[in-house]
Amino acid sequence: MTALRNTLPRMRFLSNLIRPKSSAPLSTSAPTSEPSTTMTEGSKQKPDSEWRAILSPEQFRILRQKGTERAGTGEYEHNKEPGVYSCAGCGTPLYKSDTKFSSGCGWPAFFDAVPGAVSRHEDKSFGVTRTEITCTACGGHLGHIFKGEGFPTPTDERHCVNSVSLKFHEE
Ligand SMILES: [Zn+2]
Repeated sequence: MTALRNTLPRMRFLSNLIRPKSSAPLSTSAPTSEPSTTMTEGSKQKPDSEWRAILSPEQFRILRQKGTERAGTGEYEHNKEPGVYSCAGCGTPLYKSDTKFSSGCGWPAFFDAVPGAVSRHEDKSFGVTRTEITCTACGGHLGHIFKGEGFPTPTDERHCVNSVSLKFHEE
């Protein structure tokens, strides 16, 4: 938000500069609306009305309203098959089975994500500061990251992810 506020005066200044030239012909270069195959931030964002149409009520509650599935109820907590876990909202690959480990916490746990696929945000809800993780492409809520818990993994991080936020594909 701070960054946005800082750029606002400059944007107003720029628009004043640009306005007198608005009679210039519009660019006729090729449209830039081709679907992107790269994972750019927010590239698969949609309004909530569209998410409601394509997600189940439980997926909507967790992915779009930052809910949490009940511990021990998710379908992937104990899944040990080789494969890829993609975002249940937009299909972007988020985690690979070789970074999954048994944490005993009640949700699927991963020690690392597909590079760039998961974004981190400070979450101060419920009076504690946690690190929320979201799908970079669609902004869907995945869960939280916990650090320094002493699990014997390469990163000492636990990505605690709702099964509902994921879709598993065998390899
Ligand atoms: Zn997504």
